[in-house]
Amino acid sequence: MVTSSLLSSIPGIQHGFGSASSLVPAELAPVWELRPAKRQVHGTRIAAISMPKQEAGDADGFHTKTPGLPVSIITADCVPLLLARRDGSHVAAIHAGWRGLYDGIIPAALAAMGEGAPIAAAVGPTICATCYEVSEEMAEDFAQRFNQLPREAVLPTRRHLDLRAVAEHQLRAAGVEEIEHVGGCTCCARDAAGKPIYRSYRRGDRGSQMHAGLYLTTKGEK
Ligand SMILES: [Zn+2]
Repeated sequence: MVTSSLLSSIPGIQHGFGSASSLVPAELAPVWELRPAKRQVHGTRIAAISMPKQEAGDADGFHTKTPGLPVSIITADCVPLLLARRDGSHVAAIHAGWRGLYDGIIPAALAAMGEGAPIAAAVGPTICATCYEVSEEMAEDFAQRFNQLPREAVLPTRRHLDLRAVAEHQLRAAGVEEIEHVGGCTCCARDAAGKPIYRSYRRGDRGSQMHAGLYLTTKGEK
């Protein structure tokens, strides 16, 4: 189980990132059955959640101002991103794979959240650049798309893409100043016994991804 000290510092919010031993974070257990029904499709659609067990359709980002309703996503290498307003009024969970990042799901999510108190962001367990080799074409596409960043930030070594760096860049470009990276690499992180800590699609895990999410426990500022 992985948590962010940044998000933990915001009152009225519970959050957690899953791991191989706890696919659903225990922090979400009290409200887990109320989660939306959804299908992640590596798109940029963001769904507003206001009802228990809401039918959210195809979407890769979810946000809510309603206390007691969880928003969550599943990942196994992609970036699990949790957002919360500083005043505890609004939270969001974003699934940002390479396609979502490339197509701008992070700015789309921040636009969907609208105006309000400053947003804090926690970037959860994500495949590291060393483990994430991509095609020459895809590497070049990213280097060009995110050319405001130094090339070695996007691609620390040739054809190895740093998804966390791209996510952080998009957050900062959209005005998010408080960002915490937690959890390490889904593919290469090991526990003391040498067992993988997370599920990783790249490493070969299929069919059981990890959940990450959060919810408001108290009524935030209107
Ligand atoms: Zn790694």
